[in-house]
Amino acid sequence: MLDGLDPEQREVATALHGPVCVLAGAGTGKTRAITHRIAYGVRAGILQPGSVLAVTFTARAAGEMRGRLRQLGAGGVQARTFHSAALRQLQYFWPRAIGGDMPRLVERKVQLVAEAGARCRIRLDRNELRDVTGEIEWCKVTQTVPEDYPAAAAKSGREVPRDPAEIAKIYTAYEQLKRDRGVIDFEDVLLLTVGVLQERPDVAETIRSQYQHFVVDEYQDVSPLQQRLLDLWLGGRDNICVVGDASQTIYSFTGATPDYLLGFRSRHPEATVVKLVRDYRSTPQVVQLANGLLSQARGQAAQHRLELISQREPGPEPAYTEYVDEPTEAEGTARRIKELIAGGVRPSEIAVLYRINAQSEVYEQALADAGVPYQLRGAERFFERPEVREAGLLLRGAARAGAGSDPGLADAEVPEHVRAVLGSRGWAPEPPAGSGAVRDRWESLAALVRLADDFALARPEATLSDLVAELDERANAQHAPTVEGVTLASLHAAKGLEWDAVFLVGLTEGMMPITYAKTDEQVEEERRLLYVGVTRARFHLSLSWALSRSPGGRATRKPSRFLDGLRPGSATRGTGNRSAGGTGGIERGAAAAKRKRGPIRCRVCGRTLSEAGEIKLMRCEDCPSDLDEGLYERLRDWRMEQARELGQPAYCVFTDKTLLAIAEVRPSGPAELSSIAGVGARKLDKFGAEVLALCTGAEPGDEPVAEEPEK
Ligand code: ATP
Ligand code: MG
Repeated sequence: MLDGLDPEQREVATALHGPVCVLAGAGTGKTRAITHRIAYGVRAGILQPGSVLAVTFTARAAGEMRGRLRQLGAGGVQARTFHSAALRQLQYFWPRAIGGDMPRLVERKVQLVAEAGARCRIRLDRNELRDVTGEIEWCKVTQTVPEDYPAAAAKSGREVPRDPAEIAKIYTAYEQLKRDRGVIDFEDVLLLTVGVLQERPDVAETIRSQYQHFVVDEYQDVSPLQQRLLDLWLGGRDNICVVGDASQTIYSFTGATPDYLLGFRSRHPEATVVKLVRDYRSTPQVVQLANGLLSQARGQAAQHRLELISQREPGPEPAYTEYVDEPTEAEGTARRIKELIAGGVRPSEIAVLYRINAQSEVYEQALADAGVPYQLRGAERFFERPEVREAGLLLRGAARAGAGSDPGLADAEVPEHVRAVLGSRGWAPEPPAGSGAVRDRWESLAALVRLADDFALARPEATLSDLVAELDERANAQHAPTVEGVTLASLHAAKGLEWDAVFLVGLTEGMMPITYAKTDEQVEEERRLLYVGVTRARFHLSLSWALSRSPGGRATRKPSRFLDGLRPGSATRGTGNRSAGGTGGIERGAAAAKRKRGPIRCRVCGRTLSEAGEIKLMRCEDCPSDLDEGLYERLRDWRMEQARELGQPAYCVFTDKTLLAIAEVRPSGPAELSSIAGVGARKLDKFGAEVLALCTGAEPGDEPVAEEPEK
């Protein structure tokens, strides 16, 4: 366990008691050190798995941590976000501490804020509504009551979207509305948990007796409310290990602060403090840029920066590219990504990172246009998505049917089975056109299909039931299957993650820093955000910007000020020849997406089929075929009948492909029938006679054919 760590990391891993604080830059192995620390403690028998609570800030990061812990043999350890840990405790203790059922979580908070505004006779436009909601959230995580908001906002230099007194009023009305409706919001989950722990010593005692050891990753982004909760969990004990990097503080706008990280030692004078400077993630080229960015940083966090030293072999210089407009930038990015993939980089090892989510669309188009699979980050908790849960239930049903009534199921390969089940739920070999909910759903199902493929590859003898068990285990570990697609994510969502190749796009003034970052502190946070982006790259790093938004628009934009002095004086022009015409990626993206629709192709000539009749035949009306179509139809009817009788989906009897093959081969005896893919011994036993009867033209239900009939 300790072999994979350097001496400082090992110090973290072996300091299992007392307060520990790791202050270290990006890619230095903080997350690795704490996961090894937990696993080491558990495997050495020093820590009880159930007594450790590891907290981090995104569901994805928590899922990653559970995955890593599981791999290290410490699967029983709880790794959660603050929010999910609190929610779980609150749900559990609600009946005892408060009585009754826990209130519902409000789904559309902004809507409720609008109603609260209306109650106060204050009309808010859409932007104001979003910003006022943000202010209310800030109040709650900083534990600011409405009356104190005007003063607190002024003190923190917040740019207030409306008169602070008005916001305070709306905040009050919002809280009242929630009470009237019997609902709570996201922040209430933490507030209420804090409340229960403070006021109910018996509950606090129960929780404290369960959790003895606490580990917090990304501690630079802890909010006062989360810190309060952490203190209550600890209840004066000091078995806590925190790791963080003040230079990666990127959530200040929501009330998070690196003060707790930087002040850890003064609060715990006896703490073991470890600094890590070796960067294991990135090449010297990437690290040099990261160090360069930080050397220009100002403010409190910057005083604590640590110069990173790359441990990796040299790689390519970061590429800087200037484009004429955004679609051209997206197109150029997609082209480079395609080249990387052609050169052997896996799509899942590539990320395109941007400042705000709205920037994703043009990249989605460009990647779809280039035929590159991609995947949007942000929708976390894979196994909690409705389509994944539904698919899980169906697979479970199919597995149960297989184990019980129909042993023939075992003949079908696990991946084929999964494809058949998910096919009934919107999965197809090709993704649907465009983005949006349908695409998201497809991506989830496609991830399950890939998971099944990997699983079958790793365990060829495994059955569908084994796969279902694996899914359960993963769902418990909340470890989403790695999706074989390029990641599109906002910089905020990329925190803690890493890829071989990273494309930082849209690096213009106004986007990076974003227009609404006005104060020095806000601009510094933007710089840190870019630093987070740069340090996600292991090897390839690309930075780009576009001089205008749309094709033909005025070139009014400037590259980000953060790159001044870092990018080569004359930025490369990646535009020129392709600027003329400028139809843009959007139109072409749509055209390509259209071409992709219609995944069913003629099995004779390969043409994409669109007519329902042709799709059923799986060939063009006028393509020659040796398929006995009458027989194929009869087989399908027979299969439907069988499926109904068995109470199973049709593919459990035979898949379309097998039926087609049967109708093409027209087997004349059991030996010939069993040579067809998908017809194993058990299926032959169960269905052979009837199928052969159909093939010889007899009606189903006739006496089985005993001898080889004439063809
Ligand atoms: P961030 O600040 O971005 O969260 P981090 O400090 O948590 O980064 P990790 O993600 O733990 O860094 O590690 C970065 C990469 O370096 C990972 O791929 C990790 O496996 C690798 N790594 C860390 N320490 C070592 C080591 N001692 N030997 C080999 N590889 C290491
Ligand atoms: Mg980390």
